[in-house]
Amino acid sequence: MLEDAERTDLRAIIQVFIAEKHWEGAGGLELTDEIRVTVSAQACLLLLGLPHDYYRNVESIIVYPSTVVPPQRKPGFFETSLLPVELEHPIIGQAFLHGPVIIIWDAALRDGRHPEYGHNLIYHEFAHKLDMLDGAADGTPPLRDRDEYHDWALTCANEYLRLKQDAKKGKKSFLNAYGATNLYRSHV
Ligand SMILES: [Zn+2]
Repeated sequence: MLEDAERTDLRAIIQVFIAEKHWEGAGGLELTDEIRVTVSAQACLLLLGLPHDYYRNVESIIVYPSTVVPPQRKPGFFETSLLPVELEHPIIGQAFLHGPVIIIWDAALRDGRHPEYGHNLIYHEFAHKLDMLDGAADGTPPLRDRDEYHDWALTCANEYLRLKQDAKKGKKSFLNAYGATNLYRSHV
């Protein structure tokens, strides 16, 4: 539960975030205030208590109605046919290093309504953007000093071990067992 002061802060951050970002509905989705507020509220919750400037690396947020299949990538002129061609796969969300955040509205709604599944599309994609603030998608956001980097590494390693043990025992936790598959997993 949020304290009153946190709620006031969050509301102010959300207002700036909604106004400052470029919003786009795609795939036939018409953007509504409900969509903007739902996405912004969860994205901005990650900023509470942090020094921040409103996700300076997020310019646009593109919202699709439901799962998108990206177009098949054609091999380039200089690529040989021996290179593996990426297979089509559905995207449920994506955060680009120097680009937009893509949100799939039906998945975002489902995750928001069912925190017990242990997956939240909006937290996930915006956490990538926080990570990318220092120019690298390496799982570590920009931190203040060596002590903070040390604490970050220790906390992540401990939580990862705990998640792995819980997943092995089939125990449910706040984090999805998917997170226990690889400490350094790179994905979308
Ligand atoms: Zn991801």
